[in-house]
Amino acid sequence: MYSKYHPFFENFFFGLGADIINSENTNKRILNLGVKHCVDEACLPVKIYHGHVASIKDQCDFLVIPRIMQIHNYEYICPKFCGLPEMIMHSIPNIPPVTLEPLYMHSNKSLYKWCLSVGSMITENKRKIRDAFEHAITAQNSFRTGINNPNNKITVMLAGHPYILNDSYINMNIIKKLNDKGIGIITEEFAPSPLADSQVKKLIVKPFWTFCRNLYGAATAFYQESKINGIIYLSSFACGIDSVVVDLIRLNTGDFPMLVIKLDEHTGEAGVDTRLEAFIDMLERRMQKNIATFSSHSTVI
Ligand code: SF4
Repeated sequence: MYSKYHPFFENFFFGLGADIINSENTNKRILNLGVKHCVDEACLPVKIYHGHVASIKDQCDFLVIPRIMQIHNYEYICPKFCGLPEMIMHSIPNIPPVTLEPLYMHSNKSLYKWCLSVGSMITENKRKIRDAFEHAITAQNSFRTGINNPNNKITVMLAGHPYILNDSYINMNIIKKLNDKGIGIITEEFAPSPLADSQVKKLIVKPFWTFCRNLYGAATAFYQESKINGIIYLSSFACGIDSVVVDLIRLNTGDFPMLVIKLDEHTGEAGVDTRLEAFIDMLERRMQKNIATFSSHSTVI
């Protein structure tokens, strides 16, 4: 989530006069630390989060572990985020003080409440906290994430949670691999909002997870508008939300090509490359033969 919201967090803490230490990019050492400290049942991103904390804990006075609860009104984030501070505190020994305040990001008022609580760990000057908060909001509002480089040949929607799509170690450099093969990529941030929202509203039961709404809405909107030739969904093994989203997309896009790559700490890069190449070959053949519909080409690895 830092890849999406780092302008806010960096500007806020810089504004308070704190030094910020970021953990290094995910690598084998961090993954191993995460696997060592985290419970087996957790998903890969949560394990890796443990690894990042373990790698940096001895260098700082306190750890910012945002307990993200809500990003939009009437929607929630995965429960694993709500319990992240407790998971960390009970799994990793000798950690410095941790931020515990729940983070509701759906309004400036609720976001400021978090800033006031966390900022008080650094300064008692409320004016300073207010100024840092306002500066952070401005920086975040002018920041845009996502990929939008479609091409005339083949374009795929790259779907998945931001902490998978934006971490080249977890996703095994898939963005570069697709770019090198001349495949265009578009992500959910660039979906036409009204159409994506209307797709979600058509569901009998509205999903209350933000990730689910965003990914399902975007995938079906791109499909409806014929903006993409296929969907590559990077999923985390043991992610409850992904298991629902993937099925929802399949149910509502018929036989549209979709490759689901499930990632965990045992996933081998060679296996992913093979499936990726087979999927792209299939898309190319489909383009050449101008086949309107395929059957049985949704693949899970
Ligand atoms: S949404 Fe899925 S991948 Fe993300 S933290 Fe929750 S279980 Fe893990």
